[in-house]
Amino acid sequence: MKEIVVLSGKGGTGKTTFLGAMAFLATNKVLADCDVDAADLHLLLAPEPRQENEFRSGVKARVDSTLCSACGSCEELCQFDAIEMNGEAQINSLSCEGCGVCAHFCPENAIILDENHCGTWFVSDTDYGPLVHAQLFAGEENSGKLVAFVKRKARQLAEENGAELILVDGAPGIGCPVIASLSNTDAILAVTEPTQSGLHDLERVLDLAVHFKIQSFVSINKWDLNPPMADEIEACCRKRDVIVLGRVPFDPAVVSSQLNGVPLVKDNDGIAAMAIREIWAQLRDNVAGD
Ligand code: SF4
Ligand code: SF4
Repeated sequence: MKEIVVLSGKGGTGKTTFLGAMAFLATNKVLADCDVDAADLHLLLAPEPRQENEFRSGVKARVDSTLCSACGSCEELCQFDAIEMNGEAQINSLSCEGCGVCAHFCPENAIILDENHCGTWFVSDTDYGPLVHAQLFAGEENSGKLVAFVKRKARQLAEENGAELILVDGAPGIGCPVIASLSNTDAILAVTEPTQSGLHDLERVLDLAVHFKIQSFVSINKWDLNPPMADEIEACCRKRDVIVLGRVPFDPAVVSSQLNGVPLVKDNDGIAAMAIREIWAQLRDNVAGD
């Protein structure tokens, strides 16, 4: 079984367009959306959830007001200013980091540490194969853990289904969620745009790939908006021995496909769709051996 993660150094480079197209073109695969803070793959793939589960990670403190003697020591001890005394101890769960100090030192054993319900994860059916995806609640900071969880579930599902490929929509950026999305990955497809910041972000992604010893491939999206910059990106990739699989021209059909909620390559032989088909064929031959 092979696993490919589609990444970009930041949002808005067309990463999800690629993933949606590849979901349509690839056979016998499981899809995973690791963009748990701002998932958007579902807009293209119209998933029908068949499993919806709570994601719990870490703990949050809660006061049993029937036991609290209002001594105030928890307020003094909390390093995160999460506790206020209002006749009794009150905990602001958004500020609570779950360190447990208050519970440990409460003389009345009035503080309980509850498992933190911080998101939801789903296994859904799509017209293009099963999709594992998740949503972290606003203000929660466990996205790396949730991404790792989504990846584990996708692999488990792929094994159960005898799938040969896992296609992963990675989170934007290069932070903790992206690093979590790279575990057990065979290859990265980095999608970039022909701008100076696109090149900068691409280099950061390629540095990550080198660090984790993962083979990377590059595609330049909307290359014809700035051909000299596209050339510069290719030159940079050559210097790094990274294969540029292709360039995708600007095509208004991309926006239409997003608005209509269908993968770009479905019933579409436009210039961007054709370019992505060619890129997928090369990526498949290089990695998936489909
Ligand atoms: S330490 Fe315990 S008893 Fe004291 S105020 Fe806090 S919760 Fe109440
Ligand atoms: S668990 Fe830690 S962060 Fe949360 S209220 Fe208690 S002392 Fe503060």
